[in-house]
Order: sequence, then structure tokens, then C-alpha cells
Amino acid sequence: MGLRFYNTLTQRVEDFAPARDNTVRLYTCGPTVYSYAHIGNFRSFTFFDLLRRWLRARGFGLDHVMNITDVDDKIIRNAVAEGKSLADYTRAYTEAFLEDCAKLRLEQPERLVKATEHIPQMVHAIETLRDKGFTYDSDGSVYYRIQKFPEYGKLSHIDFGGMRAGARVDVDEYDKADARDFVLWKAPKEGEPFWETGIGPGRPGWHIECSVMAIEYLGETLDIHAGGIDLTFPHHENEIAQSEALTGKQFARFWMHAEFLLVEGQKMSKSLGNFYTLRDILERGYAPEAVRYLLASVPYRKALNFTFDGLKSAAVAIDRLRNFQLRLESGRFPENGGGAFLDRVAEARRGFEESLDDDLNTAEALAAVFEYVREANTAMDAGTFPAAAVAPARALLEEFDALFDVLKPTAAVDAISDTEIETLVTERSQSKKARNFARADAIRQELLDRGVVIEDTREGVRWKRK
Ligand code: AMP
Ligand code: ZN
Repeated sequence: MGLRFYNTLTQRVEDFAPARDNTVRLYTCGPTVYSYAHIGNFRSFTFFDLLRRWLRARGFGLDHVMNITDVDDKIIRNAVAEGKSLADYTRAYTEAFLEDCAKLRLEQPERLVKATEHIPQMVHAIETLRDKGFTYDSDGSVYYRIQKFPEYGKLSHIDFGGMRAGARVDVDEYDKADARDFVLWKAPKEGEPFWETGIGPGRPGWHIECSVMAIEYLGETLDIHAGGIDLTFPHHENEIAQSEALTGKQFARFWMHAEFLLVEGQKMSKSLGNFYTLRDILERGYAPEAVRYLLASVPYRKALNFTFDGLKSAAVAIDRLRNFQLRLESGRFPENGGGAFLDRVAEARRGFEESLDDDLNTAEALAAVFEYVREANTAMDAGTFPAAAVAPARALLEEFDALFDVLKPTAAVDAISDTEIETLVTERSQSKKARNFARADAIRQELLDRGVVIEDTREGVRWKRK
């Protein structure tokens, strides 16, 4: 059986292949940069990363677009409260998000696109929807008339048929009880930032940005649209209503949604205050790869309960694999025998691949690897692990790590060598002599950040690792 995914739209597991030229056109909803992302958010982003990597492992090319929502209700509220422009307010959080992604080894999508850089295209789309009769104006805002789109509800599988026409909702986020005509373009309130456009002053609603950017970069029909489960309604339902009204074509063939990261049974979220940022966790001394492993280890359609014990177990699991890898690299193994062990590694590999093909069942894929590692360790202890099985065992670990990407320790990735330190120390002394104190200070800080302390003594500069 080949690759198959659960499709929220059809509520079935279906065979997957891209519609055209072996390239998967993938759109994922990115972060709203009003604050630091928490590890609940990163559960969704880790799922996108696994999806990318497994699609690639299965031989497909990728064209993946992710948006950065840099204008919405929360951003405007916070930016206005701090007296900052939208751009100034969102810059720091966008950078922090990308740094966190890098720490978690999340691949960058082929295109990372900002909502505020696509305002004219959104205005154009709203004009088109207006020409087609899908909108109405009220007090300077433009709304989508959901009664004009009889299929409204087909993704979240809710019958909205009996709804009151003309009732509308202005906020970007709302729940099913509030399913009404939603806002495409919002008139500015006193003191709020806005764009001056052909449809009047204002700013886009949240939903239109994804429709417009997805279609602009990926075409009218995406192969996969993915996001967190909470986006199914209203965000993705509204994206479908807008996009299909615009193009008359199916917007996305597959809809994939990641379940929540929970804390004591509740969704980890900003509003409940039960969240940890990646920074919080790293400060407690955990490695980013342990966080990555934990988030990846539970299949994306199962809720995952976050605990520090879980994080510790993740670190132990990674260690077990690193030790096995070390044994393979440095051990001495008998040249004779081995047929059965070659079969075993082939079986483990098949188990790994088939589990992932089955809607990315990461838990079963891990089980296949660990079962093999346990047996191989036992055989190594007994001196019966054959030399001929070393290369295929290493290939299995490589295949594992192309997806899970946890074997290389972060400390080693960030490590600074003695020669690098000496070079920076010399450059700092020269900068000081040249009275370039800013550069000298920056070097001291960089070294400090990388765990090296420098001291100026009468005998010269001394440095030591913290
Ligand atoms: P936001 O920055 O709030 O727009 O959220 C970014 C992404 O994180 C969305 O795809 C959400 O569905 C997802 N998300 C938010 N909270 C959680 C959670 N506790 N577990 C998993 N995903 C989440
Ligand atoms: Zn979106």
C-alpha cells in the first residue's frame, strides 16, 4: 500500500499523490506574530515539518507556502497599546519565531509570505467577490454572504442551513455558535492603522489572506492544505468559501489537521495561561531535539499531553539511539553469519516506512526502530551481531534521522572550537586598539552567548569556557 492521509474534507483515509508533475503544492497556516509562539503552536509546525520530510522521502518535490499573519485583531491591539507601528511590533516576534523553528530543526517552506505584503492582491480578490455577488458592505466594512455559498460547512461537517441571513461577525476568531457572515475588509476604528485602497480605508480580515496568498503562489487547487485542528472552523471553512467563490474550482484536495498539545487535559493556549515557550523549556536545561522528538513521537491526529516527564523520556529515547549509533561506528563485529539479521533490519525498515505511509503514524514507526535496536543491542552483547548488518543498520538510522532529525546533539552543532575563540579574541584586541569599542563589545557578547568568558588581565587576555 502506498502513501495515504486522513482527509478532513471527506473524513476518510485516502491514497495520496500530487495532481501534477510530481510536486506537492502545500499550504500551511503560519503563526500570528503578536507574541512568542508556545510549544503547542510548535506541535502544529513540527507536524508540517514531518509532512514535508516524508513527502520528500517518498520521492515528491515540494512547493510549500506558509504565511506569516502580521496584521490581525490581537496584533493591532498590542501594537496600538505599545505605541508602535505594525511593522515594528511584528518584526521581533517574526524573528523569534524563525529562530525557534531553526532550533527545532523545522525546515523552511519554499516560500514564507507576509500578509501585509499582499494587501493589493487581497483588495483585488474582494472586488472580484463583490462583482460576483458574494459580498455586501456595512459601515465601511465588507462582509462575505455565506448564504451565497451553499456548501458552507462542508469541511467542518456542520449544517449551517438554518442560519439567520445578514447577521455578521467582525472578529477574526469566533466559534461555531457565531457562524455568520464574516468580515473580508474591516473599516478602521479610531486610532487603528489602516491601508487606503480602492474599497476604502481599512485592513483585511484574517481569512482572506490565506486564500489570496495560497492561490497566488500555488494556483487554484492545492494538493494539501494543513493547519492546527482549531483552524478547521471558521478559518478553513471561510478560506474554502472565499477561494471556491473566486475560482469556481476545488480549493484543496486534502485537508490535514493536527490535534492539540494538551496540559492536564486542556489545550495549551495563551488565553488559558498554561503554556511554555520553547525559550522557557530550553532555560530549564532541556535540549531542543528532546522537544522535537516529543512533539513528533505522537501521531498528529492524537492529542498529546505535555509533561516534563515526557520530555525526559524523549531525551532518554534519543540517547538510546545515539548510543546504538556509536556502537555501530566503533564496535567490532564477527565477519561470519548474519543472514537472519539482514532480514531483521529489512523488516524494521519496512515497518518504519509502512507506518509513516499510513497517515504518518510516527508512534509505530518509532516502535519498529526501537524493537530492532533492542534486538541488535542484545545480539551485540552476545557477540552475534554480524559485520554485514552494520551498513544496513546505519542506513536505517539515517532514514530515521532524515525524518526525526534528533541524532546530532545541539551542543555539537553550536560548538565553538579553540581556534575560533582565539581568532575572535585577537580580533577583539585589535578592535580595542583601533578604538572600535562597539565591535569589541559585540565580540565579547558573542563569545559569552556561546559559553566563553573573557577576562582582561595584566598578562593579556584570558578566556575560559563556562
Ligand atoms: P496562532 O499563532 O495562534 O495562529 O497559531 C498557530 C498554529 O498553532 C495554528 O495552526 C494553531 O492551530 C496551532 N495551535 C495553537 N495551539 C495549539 C495547541 N495547543 N496544540 C497544537 N497546535 C496548536
Ligand atoms: Zn490560514
